[in-house]
Amino acid sequence: MEALVGRSKTLNNGVAIPMLGLGVYEAGAGDETYQAVSMALEVGYRHIDTAKIYGNEADVGRAIAASALKRSELYIVTKVWNSDQGYDETLRACEQSLIKLGLEYLDLYLIHWPKSEQRKETWRALERLEREKMCRSIGVSNYTIPHLQELLLTANTVPAINQVEFHPFLYQQALLAFCQEQGIALEAYSPLVRGQRFGDARLQAIAKKHDASPAQILIAWCLAHDVIVIPKSTKRDRIVENAQAITLTLDADDMTALDALNENFRTCWDPTTMP
Ligand code: NDP
Repeated sequence: MEALVGRSKTLNNGVAIPMLGLGVYEAGAGDETYQAVSMALEVGYRHIDTAKIYGNEADVGRAIAASALKRSELYIVTKVWNSDQGYDETLRACEQSLIKLGLEYLDLYLIHWPKSEQRKETWRALERLEREKMCRSIGVSNYTIPHLQELLLTANTVPAINQVEFHPFLYQQALLAFCQEQGIALEAYSPLVRGQRFGDARLQAIAKKHDASPAQILIAWCLAHDVIVIPKSTKRDRIVENAQAITLTLDADDMTALDALNENFRTCWDPTTMP
């Protein structure tokens, strides 16, 4: 599992992020999240993706505290929720998240959703939080190209990351290209399509060819596109299986076939309708 710790990408502000992390959306508050994060840290994950709205920041914090890892070895991400958007509200929300996580700083703080009325003020607050070293990097989530274009017009800091739904069945090629041009790293959420396409025969054929699982192929596809990936599982065998995908190498034929699976299929919310 050495490779897990080692493989990282350097963001536009020089900070390195581990390419593979554990997502904890819908990992239950309490023991479920605590155990999942503890297992992940034990097998080599260093990057954990939570959010205020997941209701499990405190459990992520407990698992961090119980591990023997140094703070500098970890990469912890959380997000400001819609009801906390706005300048002062966001500053307060960050403080509360830090308390729940038991941390003095975040590695990455994201605007969870491009809420029309407040996203500019929220970004100003994130810029301050980064200046004051409460967050090593700041970014956005669920931003489309128009949302990013609007932000780039006035921002002093270019977001380090845009976290969006991304998998072969929602291959957001134009967004990926735009982010790459602007130096914004793309991060894939719901990379396993929440399990809803494991049965796809084309995906299964590639999995068989590599003696891998469909989940591993989906993760390897993100990594091959240089996209950071945060599969969620609360089960030890799957946490290990997903991590092992980092050692898979897909060839050009595999990539062409996987790229062609796009059907604009979303498992989550659709930000393209957000003005
Ligand atoms: P994923 O695509 O990661 O799928 C998770 C589902 O797949 C769970 O049901 C999990 O079940 C199952 N699973 C995991 N590994 C395997 C495996 N190897 N084989 C079979 N089934 C497996 O979905 P998420 O929506 O959770 O996305 C990942 C993370 O992205 C979230 O946890 C969250 O951190 C982030 N996210 C961010 C959003 C945003 O708006 N910014 C929106 C949605 C997600 P089990 O746990 O039982 O193993």
